[in-house]
Amino acid sequence: MSDIKIVEAPPGIEGSGFFATSFDKVIGLARANSLWPLPFATSCCGIEFMATMGNHYDISRFGSERPSFSPRQADMLLVMGTIAKKMGPVLRQVYIQMAEPRWVIAVGACATSGGIFDTYSVLQGIDEIIPVDVYVPGCPPRPEAYLDGLLKLQDLVKNEPLRRRHSPEYKELLNKYGIQ
Ligand code: SF4
Repeated sequence: MSDIKIVEAPPGIEGSGFFATSFDKVIGLARANSLWPLPFATSCCGIEFMATMGNHYDISRFGSERPSFSPRQADMLLVMGTIAKKMGPVLRQVYIQMAEPRWVIAVGACATSGGIFDTYSVLQGIDEIIPVDVYVPGCPPRPEAYLDGLLKLQDLVKNEPLRRRHSPEYKELLNKYGIQ
């Protein structure tokens, strides 16, 4: 017997031979289960991501098996590792090159807060230069924590209204970072 689980249907109205739901929910479901990652890995947390991609943890179960090293073809920026201040503008440029809708996960203590590197040369959290949707704690986080972060992001993506990216609130958020 197969143990493959079918993704739960979004809330809607069901009857014999039909199912109706809102356009937002259908798009959210599709987006959440096809988040292509851009792995921005600068140090040890990146190694743990390799394990998450491998066959044991198998990130492809969540529709994210296709790492994209070209920003325009990526949906989810995974920042993994220590980000030196000199690297900040490069990371920001990658984020800006990603097409909307785009999401960001700060993976591990370094990307989240600078981690143990409380020094003049290290960025004390990537949210100083780009907006972050989900933070994954750990030094390094285990693959389960990566996947937990991905599940949390999927919840956000599923429930994101289609108009959010055109809302004044979202524009204000980007403006805070000096991004148009
Ligand atoms: S959080 Fe820890 S494991 Fe991850 S990059 Fe920083 S020092 Fe390395």
